[in-house]
Amino acid sequence: MTSTIAEILLAGPRGFCAGVERAIDVVEVAIEVCEPPVYVRKEIVHNQHVVETLRQKGAIFVDELDEVPDGATVVFSAHGISPAVREDARRRGLRVIDATCPLVTKVHLEAIRYARERYSIVLIGHQDHDEVIGTLGEAPERIHVIASAADVDKLEVPDPSKIAYLTQTTLSVDDTRDVIEALRAKYPKIVGPSRDDICYATQNRQAAVKRLADDVDVLLVIGSSNSSNAIRLVEVSRSAGTRAHLINDARDIHPEWLEGVRRVGVTAGASTPEVLVTETVAALSRAGVAVREVHVVEEDVRFALPQELEQMARERGRTLPSRTAMRQSI
Ligand code: SF4
Repeated sequence: MTSTIAEILLAGPRGFCAGVERAIDVVEVAIEVCEPPVYVRKEIVHNQHVVETLRQKGAIFVDELDEVPDGATVVFSAHGISPAVREDARRRGLRVIDATCPLVTKVHLEAIRYARERYSIVLIGHQDHDEVIGTLGEAPERIHVIASAADVDKLEVPDPSKIAYLTQTTLSVDDTRDVIEALRAKYPKIVGPSRDDICYATQNRQAAVKRLADDVDVLLVIGSSNSSNAIRLVEVSRSAGTRAHLINDARDIHPEWLEGVRRVGVTAGASTPEVLVTETVAALSRAGVAVREVHVVEEDVRFALPQELEQMARERGRTLPSRTAMRQSI
């Protein structure tokens, strides 16, 4: 089949957010400065390429803490954990490095505060996502998880005047607005964060897709099938009337998706490394195909590494390696 592609439009921003960069750096630095082996509970971020690369560098990924030997070092993933897991680690004498994204921690703190003030808490999110499981664990007896506006109808709380809402950080901005409106209509006294908890990276990547959707015939979203924010990017494009496909990498592209296509959009979820974008663009490119970046906003967010990592390095007489140098590796 002869390619009809004339232009590839790259969404900006795309790919790694500050929370993912920090989580990857945590594992890489831990492998470098801690007593091996370094265990990681759950996928550090939801991307197979990242997990495989870190595994090759020496990280051991486990699903639950009972797979980690007593006294070993374990990293908690960017999605956060419930207090029960933290307590289990403490009881087992594990050395913990917490790579939970600070923006997820913020949602946990909000849940703790509302629970202390005896609110019923509506957590808008996906029941089976690691982040929601972690947040739910802060106050399981008070938190109700809902995913859509339709779920609001079925919701029952003991005191409708004492209710708060929180959101998973990686939801669709538009869908969440509908759910919050439905909650406000049913519970006029509901309180919540000043906007919602959807993080800057999720919002910016969705805004970039909205901008791109009008200008392309098809959008390719690079990300894993368990990456919430990548799946949302596909949904945002389809809601705007533009075909979109989620791919792990360039090998997943079906030639029939590109039949008669002049302009292809490419973006990547917040846990997708840029190398997969570069490979995808190379696979789509032929002589004469233009590549253009469409930027909606610049990002300059960066989170510091957890203090416990510095402490562990000090104990071994080491200093933390440069994060900028490490960044080149994935
Ligand atoms: S997507 Fe947002 S909440 Fe999740 S790790 Fe990235 S910055 Fe943190």
